[in-house]
Amino acid sequence: MNRERWYAKDLEDVEQTLDSNLETGLAKNKAKKRLEKYGKNDLKEKKKEGLLKKFINQFKDFMVIILIIAAAISGVLGEVTDTIIIFIIVFLNAILGLVQENKAEKSLEALKSMSTPNSKVLRDGSIMEVKSYNIVPGDIVLLEAGDYVPADGRIIEKASLQVEESALTGESLPVNKTVDTLADKKIVIGDRKNMVFSGSVVTHGRGKFIVTSTGMNTEIGKIATMLESQEKGDTPLQRKLAELGKKLGIIALIICAIIFLVGFFQGRPIFDMFMISVSLAVAAIPEGLPAIVTIVLSLGVQRMIKKNAIIRRLPAVETLGTASIICSDKTGTLTQNKMTVTKAYTYDKLIDVDEIDINDNEYRMLVYTGVLCNDASIEENDGEKKTIGDPTEIALVALGYEKEQLKKTLESEFKRVEEIPFDSDRKMMSTIHEVDGGYRVFTKGAIDVLINRCNKILINDNVESLNEEKKSEILEENKNLAKEGLRVLALAYKDISDIPNEVSSKNIENDLVFIGMTAMIDPPRETVKGAVERCKTSGIRPIMITGDYKITAISIAKELGIIQSEEESIDGEALEDMTDDELKENIEKYSVYARVSPEHKVRIVKAWQDKGKIVAMTGDGVNDAPSLKRSDIGCAMGITGTDVSKEASDMILTDDNFSTIVSAVEEGRVIYDNIRKSIHYLLSCNIGEIVALLTALLFNLPAPLIPIHILWINLVTDSFPALSLGVDPGEKDIMERKPRKPRESIFAHGLGLSIVIRGIMIGIVSFSAFNVGLNEDIITGRTMAFLVLSISQFANSLSVRSLDKNIFKIGILSNKYLLMAISLSGVLMLSVTLVPFLQNIFELGNLSLEQWLMVVGFSIIPFSVAEIYKTIRNRMRK
Ligand code: ATP
Repeated sequence: MNRERWYAKDLEDVEQTLDSNLETGLAKNKAKKRLEKYGKNDLKEKKKEGLLKKFINQFKDFMVIILIIAAAISGVLGEVTDTIIIFIIVFLNAILGLVQENKAEKSLEALKSMSTPNSKVLRDGSIMEVKSYNIVPGDIVLLEAGDYVPADGRIIEKASLQVEESALTGESLPVNKTVDTLADKKIVIGDRKNMVFSGSVVTHGRGKFIVTSTGMNTEIGKIATMLESQEKGDTPLQRKLAELGKKLGIIALIICAIIFLVGFFQGRPIFDMFMISVSLAVAAIPEGLPAIVTIVLSLGVQRMIKKNAIIRRLPAVETLGTASIICSDKTGTLTQNKMTVTKAYTYDKLIDVDEIDINDNEYRMLVYTGVLCNDASIEENDGEKKTIGDPTEIALVALGYEKEQLKKTLESEFKRVEEIPFDSDRKMMSTIHEVDGGYRVFTKGAIDVLINRCNKILINDNVESLNEEKKSEILEENKNLAKEGLRVLALAYKDISDIPNEVSSKNIENDLVFIGMTAMIDPPRETVKGAVERCKTSGIRPIMITGDYKITAISIAKELGIIQSEEESIDGEALEDMTDDELKENIEKYSVYARVSPEHKVRIVKAWQDKGKIVAMTGDGVNDAPSLKRSDIGCAMGITGTDVSKEASDMILTDDNFSTIVSAVEEGRVIYDNIRKSIHYLLSCNIGEIVALLTALLFNLPAPLIPIHILWINLVTDSFPALSLGVDPGEKDIMERKPRKPRESIFAHGLGLSIVIRGIMIGIVSFSAFNVGLNEDIITGRTMAFLVLSISQFANSLSVRSLDKNIFKIGILSNKYLLMAISLSGVLMLSVTLVPFLQNIFELGNLSLEQWLMVVGFSIIPFSVAEIYKTIRNRMRK
């Protein structure tokens, strides 16, 4: 089918060849059969790296290479058991890394598939939403501004349809589309003006097309190798930690070399010196850290999904914790987007909608305009009402429905022949219909814009001229409605005898006859007030940016607690008069921006960023992409958002709710805090190991720990508590703190110092235990050091949960996973110390009761000191 010159065929011919129906679309069962025949409408992805390749990659790590070299040399020096064990541990670690990498990849893929676009198709005569990958040849697809074109096809209907096809043609200017049949000769893609192609974007207008090819058969499918490769998802923190690991490794190597040389000249046995150096190298590198950070991040992302936030770019998780400004749309994000028309105004009288009498000419015109100049629909299926479209428009169709003016009926009576779609810059929409042998334009839009396009007014059955006096009366009435937080829409019409060749706002939307206004309620979302409050206690400033009328915006912003007085608001016009510098100067003054267009949003984001703030910004429309991209955390709407806005975002709110952003910020703070806890825990252990080894060296004693002891602790027994710290519930006051500064070091607020002090304490007690055991023999000494190091780490894991609150404040039982992790690690620790076979391999021995008691005594010292210190410091602060 693909070779056909679809652009050169008559529409009827296209319809027949594709065995479809332009009026009703495909039958559902036919679509199902075609899906089986043609397969899914998606592009085959590049072949992924094989498992073996991924496994080999695990060994390219710096620390693994050091370990392998160490193992090889010990083997040459005759310590074959050590060699084998190091290899086993390295091997297990590689498998773990592989599993973990696979899991992370899977969850990224799952995230991706959660944000795959839907398309509106016509099947069995009704409009329905399907996943774009289920589209088949012959389907009739509806397009509107902001949609990605899901497949290739021939246009059968269009209204100001413009499509940007740069993915295919390299041309970034949008192309005007047509329905006309083109000449039957070879034409390049860019000139096939009556076709649309998969992968391009609708930038303006509306249209309908019949699908000619899907999946790999589309034009983009043929050049699919050109597709952007997926971004690598490492976060800045992950990169910083990888660098830290490398640096530590290099420092460790240098220290090892020095110690080795010193020991050599001291005349110590080379093999001993070598083993101490290897131990030190292993001790200095936090082997488990990168994997743990990745797992903690991906678990955090999973938790966010449950709270309705889908993270599209992993670094956003970290940025979220630093957010200091949240700019939010009003309609649908702060409010419920469930609009209902409650009042109607025609000249001189405001009434409740219940009182509307459809036999009255004015009201009939008001309702007709609302219903006909409208792309939404209400369908009744088995007694159940289903609505499709923009809530503002649904409210108007619903009003007609109540007054028994069904959209389908009106539309068949007054056929729509032309239209100028709504856009949020113009703030209006018009349609042209056949009426009594002529044509009638129906227009609806923002009152302050529309009234200036009207020069007449409908009063009862008469059309009179609209003078300034009447205008100001109407605007006064609008003000009163807006003060109640109502959303006001104005309606107008005019009769024309001919339709101009090029229909545009200029030649259609003027000299209109003003009919009246409708006022709708859109109640604030229930959770938002609390969320605004939480923002304020946590040093985050919520800001409302809306296309709606200023007074309506102020009324709702006050109700939600975003502002206290009118002075904190500004509208698009005033913004227009300010230079960027002036805006930056005054930016702190405003928390409500009304009647703004999407370009203003970019300016607002920039001004705040220039003040050093981290800005989250919501958006849904096609024109919102630049501000979403420019902001630090672009949040797209999952329900009402266009494909384009979703693609430009870092995070998608599946419930379109402002509160979700605040929960995500909280989750972002918790995740960052938890990563700090894992780092606190793991690095203090590393320092403990180094201190123990160096002290022994200082006293000219043998190494208290051999490499496999250290590896076992670093990679096995430490990793479970470190992981469970990563899912810590988070401190209760986390939203009472100020946002973290973006450039702040991960070791800030005393973390670095605490790591060092805890490390030194753990090192000293481990060495002391070794020293005690050494009185008996080296095996006993090492066993005691190994146990003290492990157990003091278990206690440490409970204590690192907070830098300032003691364990009773945090709650000993409040992280169940941590308790389970300690038990599991405890069993692993005991198995290598007590099971004879493992005991042999690990060169450990049995202890007496007295020695065990000493082990426990030594182990709880660092923990107790830290907890007592926190308690005393808190008392003194009070
Ligand atoms: P927010 O920016 O908070 O989502 P909004 O929905 O009011 O608010 P826009 O969609 O930019 O913002 O709409 C701007 C104005 O255009 C609205 O206040 C309304 O007066 C008018 N308007 C909105 N939708 C339509 C529509 N479908 N047809 C005609 N006019 C509309």
